[in-house]
Amino acid sequence: MNFKDLTNQIDFNKGDGLVPAIIQDVKTQKVLMLGYMNKESYEKTIETGKVTFYSRSKERLWTKGEESGNFLELKDLSLDCDKDTLLIKVDPVGPVCHKGTDTCWEEQNEASSIDFLLQLQQVIGERKKNLSEKSYTASLFQKGINKIAQKVGEEAVELVIEAKDENEELFMGEAADLMFHYLVLLSAKGYSLEQVVALLEQRHSN
Ligand code: AMP
Ligand code: ZN
Ligand code: ZN
Ligand code: ZN
Repeated sequence: MNFKDLTNQIDFNKGDGLVPAIIQDVKTQKVLMLGYMNKESYEKTIETGKVTFYSRSKERLWTKGEESGNFLELKDLSLDCDKDTLLIKVDPVGPVCHKGTDTCWEEQNEASSIDFLLQLQQVIGERKKNLSEKSYTASLFQKGINKIAQKVGEEAVELVIEAKDENEELFMGEAADLMFHYLVLLSAKGYSLEQVVALLEQRHSN
């Protein structure tokens, strides 16, 4: 395993030998569940690569998935600022909650809305690679950078016009249009949203 062994750093004293362990999906970043670990369960987790808790109700070591087969494969672990809480990233073999759902907090959003922008950027990138596809985005790439830049200009003007109006729905529609075409232009120029954000961050810290 390629993560640091934290055995001697974890502060087990605060909670009667137990520390909370927040379990997060390494891929989706969703919080999956929370359990408690004592030193022994932590060491077993490291040894086996499968998350093992100390169950307060069972009063024994509990390897998540021992009955259901829905193990939590250990991917990464870290301690919080005062070393009394673990964050454990896992690859879940199956549903994590005993009620059959992926996480014990089903109401969590799929991804934050900012994450969706990155997802959209990904899709735009795929359309750029597959110009033959029958998609509006692919057709934009086919027309070339000048046409795409012109489209951004048009959407910006439409947004300006709607900004003067009272119609919130039209304004938001144009705001979305502009953002979409802006992402297409970035992609056409070979840049990413992350690079723009990095530049803004750099300016902010200057
Ligand atoms: P498992 O460890 O998945 O084989 O499940 C064995 C037992 O552990 C279940 O019957 C539940 O009592 C309990 N359990 C499983 N998953 C959870 C969870 N996410 N949160 C709390 N208890 C759980
Ligand atoms: Zn803490
Ligand atoms: Zn649950
Ligand atoms: Zn528009």
